[in-house]
Amino acid sequence: MKEEIRSKYQAVIGLEVHAQMLTKTKAYSSDVNEFGAIPNSNVSVITLGHPGTLPKMNVKTIEFAIRMGLALESEITEVQNFDRKNYFYPDLPKGYQITQDQTPICTGGKVYIKDDNGNEKAIKITRIHMEEDAGKSIHDVDVHDTLVDLNRAGIPLIEIVSEPDIRSSQEAYNFVTEIRKIVRYLEICDGNMEESSLRCDANISVMLKDAKEFGRRVEVKNMNSIKNVQHAIEFEIKRQIELIEKNVIVAQETRSFDALKGITISMRSKEAANDYRFFPEPDLLPIKIKQEQIDTIKSEMPALPRELFLKYTNEFGLSEYDAYNITDNKALALFYESIISHTKNYKSAANWLMGDIKSYLNTNGFEVREFPISAETVAELIAIIDTGKISSTVASQKVFTALLENPNQAPLEIAKGLNLIQESNEDSILEYVNEVITQNPDEVERFKNGEKRLTGFFMGKLMQISKGKADPKAANRLMTETLNKL
Ligand code: ADP
Ligand code: MG
Repeated sequence: MKEEIRSKYQAVIGLEVHAQMLTKTKAYSSDVNEFGAIPNSNVSVITLGHPGTLPKMNVKTIEFAIRMGLALESEITEVQNFDRKNYFYPDLPKGYQITQDQTPICTGGKVYIKDDNGNEKAIKITRIHMEEDAGKSIHDVDVHDTLVDLNRAGIPLIEIVSEPDIRSSQEAYNFVTEIRKIVRYLEICDGNMEESSLRCDANISVMLKDAKEFGRRVEVKNMNSIKNVQHAIEFEIKRQIELIEKNVIVAQETRSFDALKGITISMRSKEAANDYRFFPEPDLLPIKIKQEQIDTIKSEMPALPRELFLKYTNEFGLSEYDAYNITDNKALALFYESIISHTKNYKSAANWLMGDIKSYLNTNGFEVREFPISAETVAELIAIIDTGKISSTVASQKVFTALLENPNQAPLEIAKGLNLIQESNEDSILEYVNEVITQNPDEVERFKNGEKRLTGFFMGKLMQISKGKADPKAANRLMTETLNKL
C-alpha cells in the first residue's frame, strides 16, 4: 500500500485479553485445572453440565482477579453478581457460559506502554470480569470427525477489556506484552499464548485522520502469539483502508487470523449483546468483597515490573535498556533484587547480570533458578573488585569461571588460591615501576624527549611483570608521576 494513502488514515484498536487463572481447581467445580492432561479426564458432572448439578465459586479466582485489578489501578466492585451468556457450542455442554455482565469485578484502570515514538502512554482499561473457559474442539486429529476435550471447560478466566486507545499494531504488541508480564509477575496466569492460556481478540477500525468518529470495527480472533496479534492487526488495517478507498463499507464482523497465510478471514457477522440473552445466574449467590480482603491482597502484592523499572532508572541510574531487560523476566528481576540487597553497586550488579550471568544462562539454556552462584556470592565478587583486590577483567575471566565450578567457595578465597589478588600496595608497585624504567632505557629517553604516549607501553610492561596483579589505577598514577620526575 502506498504510504500517501496509508498516512491519510488512523487505526483505532481495542483489545480483549483472556487469561486462564492458575488456580488448582476449576472456577465452579473441584475438577483439576491443568494443561495437557489426558482428554476428558478432568470432567465431573458439573463440568459436563448435567441437569441438577450446582456450581460452587472458587474464591481463589476472585483473589486473582483482584490482584490484577490492583496492578492496573482499577476500582474493585463491591458486590459480584454472575450472569449466564447463552450460546450453543459442542464444547460448552451447559449451553451457557457463566460470566459477569453488569458487575465486572474491576472497572477502569490503565496499562502503561510505549507508543511508536518511544514515549510512555497509558491505555485505559474498561473492565476486568471473571468467566469460565469452554472446552476445546479438535479438528485436526481425526480425519472424519471433530473431537471434543472438556478438560478446559470451566477453567477460570479473567477478561481484560481495553478502551479503544491503541493506535498501531506496535502499540497493541506492547500492550499484550505488558499484560503478559504483569500476569506472570502476579503469578495468576502462565501467560503462554501457544498453549492458549493467554488469548487476545483485537477490535480494529480505521478512520480518516481528521475524522470525528471512529470507523466501524472488526473483531479478529485466533492469534496464538503476540507477533501474530501484531501481524493480524497490520493486515486488517490495510484491508480496511483498501475497502474504504474503494468506497466499500467495512462490514462489522468477526474474522479469524490465518497465521500461515498472514490474512484474516470472515467467520461470522458480529453478534449483538442481545443475541446472548444474558440473565442472572440463579445458582451462584452474589459475593460481597470486604475492604479488609482487598487490603490483605494489596499487602501481599509482589513488586510489579513498572515499579521496579522506575526504581532502577530513577533511583539506581540504570539505563532504560538495562532496566527493561532486567524487569522483563520476573525471576531475573528477583535475582537482581537479591544481589542488590547485598551490595550498593547497582550498576555493577546490573552489568554482571546482563553480561556474564545472562550469557552463561543463555549458552546453557538455563533458567535463572538453575544459576549455581548465589546472589550473595555475586555481591562478594563485586565487592572484591570495588575494593581493588582484583580487576574486573580477572574477575570475569578467572574468578567467575572458577566460581561456576565451585559455587560454594568465597570469591576472595578463589582469587587468593589462584594467586590473583591485585597489588595496590604502593611500595611493591613502585618496585615494578622502577624495574620497567631500568629495563627500557631507550623508551625512557624518548619519553623524556616528549613522546608522552609511551606511557601505554610502560604500563603494558608493568602489567606483564606483575602478571596482571598490579592495581591498574594505582600503577598508572605511580608510573606517570615517576616518569614525569625523570
Ligand atoms: P463486545 O462485547 O461486542 O466485544 P465491547 O463493547 O465489549 O464489545 O467492546 C469490545 C472492544 O472493542 C473494546 O476493547 C473496545 O475498546 C473496542 N472498540 C470499541 N469501538 C471500537 C472501534 N470503533 N474501533 C476499534 N475498537 C473498538
Ligand atoms: Mg468482544
